[in-house]
Amino acid sequence: MINTGHLIKFRRELHSYPEIAGREKSTAERLGRFISNYNPDRIISRIGGYGIAFIFKGEEPGKKILFRADLDALPIKEISNMEYSSVYSDRAHLCGHDGHMTILAGLAEALNINRPLKGEIILLFQPSEETGEGAARVLADKKFRESANPDYVFALHNLPGYPEKSIIINNNIFSSASVGLTVQLHGKSSHAAEPAKGNSPVKALSQIIDALYSIQDNKEIFTDFVLGTVIHINLGEKRFGTLPEYGEISMTLRAYRDDDMEVLRNEIVRAAVNICEKEKIKCEYEWKEEFLSLENDSFAVDIVKNAAYNLDLETIEMTVPFKWSEDFSHFTKNYRGAMFGLGAGNDHPALHNPDYDFPDEIIATGINMFLNIYRLINQ
Ligand SMILES: [Zn+2]
Ligand SMILES: [Zn+2]
Repeated sequence: MINTGHLIKFRRELHSYPEIAGREKSTAERLGRFISNYNPDRIISRIGGYGIAFIFKGEEPGKKILFRADLDALPIKEISNMEYSSVYSDRAHLCGHDGHMTILAGLAEALNINRPLKGEIILLFQPSEETGEGAARVLADKKFRESANPDYVFALHNLPGYPEKSIIINNNIFSSASVGLTVQLHGKSSHAAEPAKGNSPVKALSQIIDALYSIQDNKEIFTDFVLGTVIHINLGEKRFGTLPEYGEISMTLRAYRDDDMEVLRNEIVRAAVNICEKEKIKCEYEWKEEFLSLENDSFAVDIVKNAAYNLDLETIEMTVPFKWSEDFSHFTKNYRGAMFGLGAGNDHPALHNPDYDFPDEIIATGINMFLNIYRLINQ
């Protein structure tokens, strides 16, 4: 039995002081102070930004297993009125990363009580998950490659809408690839009464929207699910006498598979470039927040299922991948591993909702899952 009283207190402290992607400095320091009490053999800080890792070494040789949590909160105002609500009005832990961090902190405590016999355990706290930048930055960091370099990688995400403490897993693709695309359109302004003397980007803009929908509806060019969503449009100014000269459209592209994503990206860019050429509009484009498709390794999935079985937890096998994305995908592209969901309760507010708060009841389940995974691999 894990006593979680002090862990709940720590989770709530993290919740009160959230930091968004790229600014997780004091969160990493808080973790450093808390986990140092549990005597890790090594601490590596400033990995890929404010990332921090704690390494526990066994006496005997064995597999190196990395467990990953995420440091960042969201730039959304929290509406829950709790004693430990975010002290800031513009950001909050509404994806439960405070809970994921607490699970790894609790794992550190458990590893201090029962020091690992074999191999090595790396507790990695990764920055900038929400923007899809952190995992790639950690992997590119020399400090990580030289001192961590795991044999297996595992992570969990709490999932509202599933029974509390259930384990949700998919043997193959867990979550989708996604990327943001902004197309900038430069035309020429004129008097609004004489549009022929200028060149408004409005026609190109509307054709790009049409193209996005007809491309994603063209089932013949894709193997599986793809989705394009327009998320922002900007055209001209509110000056009624003036024809707009600048327009901009942003969209999010999604696909279960990386190869479908490649096709979707190429098709939409080709369409936009052709449309702009035809409309004599200068066009530029920019990619943002790129996530890969998260593919689980089948051995790692079996380990997760066995751990859930050992702990007598309900296991839910997914029939289709999640449509959202997770940048843990960068880890599973480089190492054998798996991500699984940990049920946060059927009626729990959804992730990223302003009234979401991580359920403390599932902290111990997360710790036990990771401990079991370590033991199953290094027994
Ligand atoms: Zn999130
Ligand atoms: Zn998240």
